[in-house]
Amino acid sequence: MRLRNKPWAKDKIAAYPQYVIPDPETKRGRWRELFGHDQPLHVEIGTGKGKFITEMAKLHPDVNFIGIELYPSVLVSALDKLIESGLANVKLLNANAKDLTAFFADGEVSRIYLNFSDPWPKKRHEKRRLTYRDFLALYDRILAEDGDIHLKTDNQSFFEYSLVSLSQYGFVLASVQLDLHQSGMTDNVMTEYEEKFSAKGNRIYRCEAVRPP
Ligand code: SAM
Repeated sequence: MRLRNKPWAKDKIAAYPQYVIPDPETKRGRWRELFGHDQPLHVEIGTGKGKFITEMAKLHPDVNFIGIELYPSVLVSALDKLIESGLANVKLLNANAKDLTAFFADGEVSRIYLNFSDPWPKKRHEKRRLTYRDFLALYDRILAEDGDIHLKTDNQSFFEYSLVSLSQYGFVLASVQLDLHQSGMTDNVMTEYEEKFSAKGNRIYRCEAVRPP
């Protein structure tokens, strides 16, 4: 994600605490209460500019969505989409995925989306990949018993790494698509990166991995 610094981003985020939750630790184990609807909770990590999560929330009013994004300058674009749509089933967190267990109780989350996560190709940066085993251990804790991870990327090396890492950890690969846009999947919602890279002719990889039994 090209990062254009927006010095005003933090102030704008702070002005919308109903959309970007300022104190997510206090909501741990109580997200369903906050949303006001007892329905499954899906979390997207690395939400970026928010196209995926806002479109998914429109299509699935029976699901509560939380998007987590590290950079305020990126998150404000997702916030704009949320303000415009007025969706009640999406909240955003300006936070780091490494703190997931501070925000969510064990088993509180039904699904995690990893869309076009930064691939961190250098071996010495492996621990930063969102499918490194330490991150998988966090997902394992917050996911419900039958919870799963849905991952998409255009980066073949990162995809292969993720399949191996997920399998070695004990996640069960329920579905693997080596060319998503030729797979016949009809309900795919594209992310900003997906639009950009598929327009360049890049193949999109996708998998679904179920929490270890
Ligand atoms: N998912 C979006 C898409 O597909 O268009 C954005 C993809 S972009 C390559 C990856 C995003 O993940 C960036 O916006 C980055 O700031 C965010 N990110 C990376 N590591 C993160 C972390 N540990 N916690 C939260 N967000 C993270």
